[in-house]
Amino acid sequence: MTVVRLQRHAPEAYNATKCAVCGTTDAKQVTDHIQVGQPGTPIHDEGVCEKCGAVIDHVVDKYGRDLTMMVEDAQHEASEKEITIPGAQPHKAARDLNTVSVATLSM
Ligand SMILES: [Zn+2]
Repeated sequence: MTVVRLQRHAPEAYNATKCAVCGTTDAKQVTDHIQVGQPGTPIHDEGVCEKCGAVIDHVVDKYGRDLTMMVEDAQHEASEKEITIPGAQPHKAARDLNTVSVATLSM
């Protein structure tokens, strides 16, 4: 399981110069600290800007602290392949499926 831990307005984020989520390089905006992976041995240990931190904060606040998130793009049109070939490969949206679990977010 992937755990996303976000610490808002973290002192250690002052050294970060880039937001890991949106990529802004405005160091003044990078106020939060994100760690992704197993607690204690994160795979990602990065800075996050105030705006992206607020979004993550709001999502967890609204939907709960123990989340499994699946992000996918909606498929708006069927491709010709899917219409005409029986047993075609799974469509693109399924391949792009990203799974992120948010289990422990501390403020
Ligand atoms: Zn950002």
